[in-house]
Amino acid sequence: MAKLRLDDKAGKDPEYFWDRQDALGRRAMLTEILAQVSREALLGEGLEAVLQGIVDCLVRRLPVGIASIILLDDDGSGFVQEVWAGVLDLDTPVGAPANGPWPVSVGAAGRCARTGQPQLIVGVENDPDYVPGNTAVRSEYLLPIVHHGRMLGVLNIESTREDFFTPEACAVFDAVAAQVAGAIHLARVVGELEIANRKLQALSLSDGLTGIANRRRFDQQLEQDWLRMARERLPLALALVDADCFKPLNDARGHLYGDECLRELARLCTDVAIGANDLVARYGGEELALLLPGRNLRQARNMAERLRRNVETQRMLHPASPVAGHVTVSIGVTALMPSSAQSPQRLIEMADRALYAAKAGGRNRVVGRGLRRLVAGA
Ligand code: GH3
Ligand code: MG
Ligand code: MG
Repeated sequence: MAKLRLDDKAGKDPEYFWDRQDALGRRAMLTEILAQVSREALLGEGLEAVLQGIVDCLVRRLPVGIASIILLDDDGSGFVQEVWAGVLDLDTPVGAPANGPWPVSVGAAGRCARTGQPQLIVGVENDPDYVPGNTAVRSEYLLPIVHHGRMLGVLNIESTREDFFTPEACAVFDAVAAQVAGAIHLARVVGELEIANRKLQALSLSDGLTGIANRRRFDQQLEQDWLRMARERLPLALALVDADCFKPLNDARGHLYGDECLRELARLCTDVAIGANDLVARYGGEELALLLPGRNLRQARNMAERLRRNVETQRMLHPASPVAGHVTVSIGVTALMPSSAQSPQRLIEMADRALYAAKAGGRNRVVGRGLRRLVAGA
């Protein structure tokens, strides 16, 4: 196994260190760096930190004045993000756009992206596309970062030595570029999965017909609000809204019309329950629920009455209703002071009983039920 030659200056000056190595020592260094890059690519947290770790490693350990990874936009026409390490001792390079993406028509990196081929530049002053950034740089190696045939960006390594990019060193940097491609791909896949997961999560908690919260979301929120209101010693109110004579409506006008009315009822519910913590949910079938944390019975009943009137005002035709010529709702309202010792089912049972009373009383009405001595303002 090749041994690295070390002395005091070696840790601080990578160029000096490199110069002290024989061919075997240099090979060992390159191998070690490749291993470190692989670790970064696999274990680093977040794409930007991974790419930064890779370019830092190249500059810290090798006679490299600047190392950068430049990422392309989706259609490959411009560079949109650069992660770099090293020393920039020149102002904005000639020909570089001040703001916005750097088009691939510019610079040696652009040439690498356009051709899809590695660009080895020995004697940078003679290359017409070389964009100087560090006066000590003598040679440059640019590699396309490609994953499954798709060009993702360019790995740019600028050395302070003219003879640095031997075929052996280039082969190692080719492998570094492949690691970078893998890391970028992995980060994008993870990002896409996170977005897909968030969408699925949202879908699993919303009702497909009306777009409002579904029963599962309602149950979760009820548990949470019940405990939160118990802690904060505030009332929790619930209004159960049931469309009157909905079965005859479906029979008379068809299911699609019924669906349309349900969507409209959901919209009217969200119009009245506008508090930051109010939740409107489809409780089941033609039954909707308003979960109203912090509201007492009087406030919840007023809100329910406003909703009942808004539904009437909408005049959705209901030719088969014994109540009116249009769609109406019955609403059971309750409010309780939650306690962690009790189940929130109590709230549902009471709202259900109030709803039953509203139906029995002739429909198209609001009935409130609360424990008067416990509910402030009821
Ligand atoms: P009541 O006034 O006593 O509430 O009478 P109702 O006919 O509304 O009550 P019932 O429970 O007998 O019927 C509920 C109806 O709601 C039956 C069902 O077809 C209808 N329904 C439930 N979900 C949907 C839906 O998603 N779309 C449509 N169009 N109808 C639905
Ligand atoms: Mg009904
Ligand atoms: Mg019902």
